[in-house]
Amino acid sequence: MKKGIIRIYIDLLSLLFVTFLLIIPAHAQEKLNIELVYPEKDAQIQAHSTFFVGNTHPEAKLRINNERVKVYPNGGFVHVVGLNPGTNVINLKATLGKITETLTTTVYTPKYEVTIPKLPLKIDIKSIKPAENLVYRSGDIIQVSFKGSTDNKAYFSIGNKRKNIPMIEQPPKYIKQEPVYGASIKTSSTPVKGIYKGTYRITAKDNLQNEPLIVKLVSDRNKVDYKTRVVISTISPDTPPVIAKVIADYAVVRTYPGKSRLTPLPEGTLITLTGQQGDDYRFEMGNSLNGWISREDILVMPVGTPAPASSIDIIDIASDENRVFIKIPLSQRHPVLIDQPSETGMLLKIFGVKANIDLFSYDNSDEFLKEVKWSQETKDTVQISLKTDAKHFWGYKYYYRDDDTLVLELRKPPMINPEKPFDGITICLDPGHGGEEEGAKGPTNITEKEVNLQIALKLQELLKNKGANVIMTRTTDEEVGLYDRVKYAVTQDAVILLSLHNNSLPDGRDPYKDHGTSTYYYHSQALPLAKILHKALLEDVQFKDFGIFWSSFALTRPQEMLAVLLEIGFMINPGEYNRIIEADFQNTIAKSISRGLEYFLFINAEKPELELSENKEN
Ligand SMILES: [Zn+2]
Repeated sequence: MKKGIIRIYIDLLSLLFVTFLLIIPAHAQEKLNIELVYPEKDAQIQAHSTFFVGNTHPEAKLRINNERVKVYPNGGFVHVVGLNPGTNVINLKATLGKITETLTTTVYTPKYEVTIPKLPLKIDIKSIKPAENLVYRSGDIIQVSFKGSTDNKAYFSIGNKRKNIPMIEQPPKYIKQEPVYGASIKTSSTPVKGIYKGTYRITAKDNLQNEPLIVKLVSDRNKVDYKTRVVISTISPDTPPVIAKVIADYAVVRTYPGKSRLTPLPEGTLITLTGQQGDDYRFEMGNSLNGWISREDILVMPVGTPAPASSIDIIDIASDENRVFIKIPLSQRHPVLIDQPSETGMLLKIFGVKANIDLFSYDNSDEFLKEVKWSQETKDTVQISLKTDAKHFWGYKYYYRDDDTLVLELRKPPMINPEKPFDGITICLDPGHGGEEEGAKGPTNITEKEVNLQIALKLQELLKNKGANVIMTRTTDEEVGLYDRVKYAVTQDAVILLSLHNNSLPDGRDPYKDHGTSTYYYHSQALPLAKILHKALLEDVQFKDFGIFWSSFALTRPQEMLAVLLEIGFMINPGEYNRIIEADFQNTIAKSISRGLEYFLFINAEKPELELSENKEN
């Protein structure tokens, strides 16, 4: 019934609209506007192209730099514009009958990197690496590089201590930015020559105290050198290890300063420092791995503080209705590394410990945890591997109790009723962006934050009606911090966290070629859900398949639940944008996600199986 009334109402509206257009001839429109949504006026863009996103009168004819541009029925347009180094002047011209409107803007593109000629001798100071102070120890390798006049000889020195270490000019190569979605932008139009590299391995004899890094370029007749602000020091092998305590809650650990993340460390973890680069400290994870942690997240302990050392005597396994607890008593808080090599397996590495395990038992009331195994991986690393009986893990937590017992808490699969799969399931919906933080913007100026919220509210309604316990990180246009969103989902004990977004591209890409639906996950436990949601969206929404991505996002990283991020369509692809802003189509999207979730829960429902005890009579 309700549907019928709405349809009539819409039909009436469109009838009125058509009449309106018929009565007022186009040329009577006094003002013909061109609104440019992207890029902003006089933007600076380092790429070979950008896209002009905006809107004008739906019936206007539009040209950008004299090229015809398609204007969509809602007035929106998206056009890829090539850029050359320097100032690019871009003219937009809209014509409707006899009225013409023009808009001129500029985009400044930084000059490409080029080879510096052989002479005069020149060192590009900005290119010198390392750019931060180093504290290294015996065996570490210092890599120095810079760009300078090609076809010369280069050297670097560490103060007066190590002089004129030769550097080798590298084969010519393109200079690129970091890749986004598998493609990176070249910032040189031809391969660049004159990149020199050299290395030095610190020896036990080196005693460097704030020695400046000096680079030098030498031609047949001339030489230039440059003393950088970078100073290099060494930790003597004779000094006792420097111990630091983690003071941040789940401090970020990286493979290298600014690079990929490893398992965050709980507060109170003791680490052994082995080096420093700028404001980042390197620490040991056993004797084969390193982690890097920020200076502000640690407190360096007084000289003489002993390195953490514990033995693992027991693995205590317990469970309650919803969780399994793997408790490992230690005498201090040791760094850990947790990995999910597969959907059904989990590895916990504890560094700086020795195993002294003779016996441990399982909790008989639990059927989820199939097997726990331990091994002394290296002389100071114990690995505990877990296997589950379920199709995948459902989330976990790890923390230290006050008595320094390490606890790994696994979420048991929720009890799912195959008739009503959503019953009792807490799902957290996270409409991306909000408030000042608008996300991407489409041609007719609708923001991603609005679209995300509209879809999320529709999905909320659907899931509620199906019996789910739905919680929302926001229900209005407000700014919510990324980590506040995660915290909310964790404290509300959500089983599934779905972050809803619509996509955009970096400059240099073509939104007519790269677009479609994409799905993102971080922990293996979330991959089965990601695959099902992705498939459902492709079937129902029928945008191009942009792919399933493993990605380290704030909203995919939570390990406490199954966290998936969806980019349903592209705000800057007119075909997709025009659909995702429609209320009807948003219903299709919401239904599709709901269908995917329902199927996922259904296939994870407890199926009645023949029990061993029931088989007695046969
Ligand atoms: Zn977004």
